[in-house]
Amino acid sequence: MSRQRALRVAIIGAGMSGICMAIKLLDGGIDDFVIYESADDVGGTWRDNTYPGLSCDVPSRFYSYSFRPNPDWSRFMSPGPEIHRYFRQVADERGVTPHIRFGSEVTAARFEDKRWWVSTPDGEEAFDVLITATGVLRVPRYPQIEGLDTFAGPQFHSSRWDHSITLPDKRIGLIGTGSTGVQITAELGGKVRGLTIFQRSPQWVYPTPNLRYRAITRAALARWPALNKLGYRFWQTYIENTLGRAAVEAGLNRRLMALSCRLNLRMSVRDPELRRKLTPDYHAMCKRLILAGHYYRSIQQPGVHLVTEAIDHVEPRGVVTADGVLHELDVLVLATGFDARAYVRPMSIVNDSGVTLDEVWEAGPHAYRSVAVPSFPNLFMLMGPHSPIGNQSLVLIAENQADYAMWWINKIRNGEIIAASPTDAATKDYNEQMKSAMPQTIWVTGCKSWYLGKDGLPELFPWRPVRHRELLATPDVSHFEVRTA
Ligand code: NAP
Repeated sequence: MSRQRALRVAIIGAGMSGICMAIKLLDGGIDDFVIYESADDVGGTWRDNTYPGLSCDVPSRFYSYSFRPNPDWSRFMSPGPEIHRYFRQVADERGVTPHIRFGSEVTAARFEDKRWWVSTPDGEEAFDVLITATGVLRVPRYPQIEGLDTFAGPQFHSSRWDHSITLPDKRIGLIGTGSTGVQITAELGGKVRGLTIFQRSPQWVYPTPNLRYRAITRAALARWPALNKLGYRFWQTYIENTLGRAAVEAGLNRRLMALSCRLNLRMSVRDPELRRKLTPDYHAMCKRLILAGHYYRSIQQPGVHLVTEAIDHVEPRGVVTADGVLHELDVLVLATGFDARAYVRPMSIVNDSGVTLDEVWEAGPHAYRSVAVPSFPNLFMLMGPHSPIGNQSLVLIAENQADYAMWWINKIRNGEIIAASPTDAATKDYNEQMKSAMPQTIWVTGCKSWYLGKDGLPELFPWRPVRHRELLATPDVSHFEVRTA
């Protein structure tokens, strides 16, 4: 222990991944770290998204830290506010919160004199290791629609919900039918004066009822924690062998999932015209699969209108579609998604040669095994480029990536190395392997989605999630350029 050197770590972001990294540091005996958080609360995506019907679509037992099961989840898939409370509670009980600097936005970080210099409006501080935990879908994407800003009523992005507005008496326009739009529809359909859904592309919906856990089940899970662990393993195995596999390998799994979606639509929507409008012309899972229980039921409620005509423009009274029809509205909700290529942007990350991450990523974000970038020593990313976010629970991905970062952090702390970054050759080789595996994935089968990068290829991990875990479990030092003095 005496040979260990003092080490300072900076984490950017106090969402699910940043909290996870902090716990790993504390468990490893490192308490000299700062978490920079631009907002005034933890929780990242679960803090920002508060729209009606917000819920996770990964089973609760599996969408938890593996080291902190929660017997109290109220449903099979947890409602958003519960998940937010969980992360806040874990941060408090594990001693993470005192390390967080709320309201402190990192504007830049540069590597100089073997250290990372992190800048905020309050000044600059030096660290040995920099961890980015800024999430994936953080920056809202606003649609380019003529006249949008002339709309007379309130309008907001789904991740910036205006809770001052009462909903039941309103005619609400909803642009977007991704996971968010579907959850909002499932919640509001039939409960508001009017809900007009502007659908540009229909979605495949995998039937996933969200049942409540009974009090007796929750009590049993609290009494016997092993049951919780069993539940975690069960859902991990299930997801990794259904969606985890079907998205990246053709075969029976893929066909069964597609069939379930088709049957769901067929059995839930009797009106052939509505069914036609809701039938996608691409393969299930090509876009992010929607997992929902009662979307189709809600869309058939009185007062819900599905509009498939393209939007022409917006005027003060509502949305005008290409057929010249004015859809009069009181409120306009933009469930139009996020800029998935933002990563750490707009902050600038600069290495000791003066090269920015933006320059390195000009052709598209890429990394070594999703966690590190050549020539950017001691920088580790959680949920970095090509993480398996299309077919795995993000919580487990964060844990695996944080463990990987810890492996290198321990080497630095033990004085074995001063800095490490992956070699160009290893990173290039890894990215080429990924590129040649992409054609087997469902994501390239002819749909448009936020998964696709500038080159038309998915910015996702093209193999089964277990492979990502294996790649991170055994760091390969020969793939790294290591500085020892
Ligand atoms: P999204 O999947 O990107 O969907 C955006 C929607 O807006 C699409 O239907 C898109 O149509 C439509 N759209 C965008 N611009 C438009 C325009 N100018 N005119 C008309 N329509 C327009 O965004 P999201 O629904 O917010 O979901 C993003 C991701 O967040 C999901 O894929 C998922 O990974 C995650 N998410 C997860 C959960 C969960 O339960 N775990 C819940 C919500 C979100 P096109 O399809 O034609 O592009």
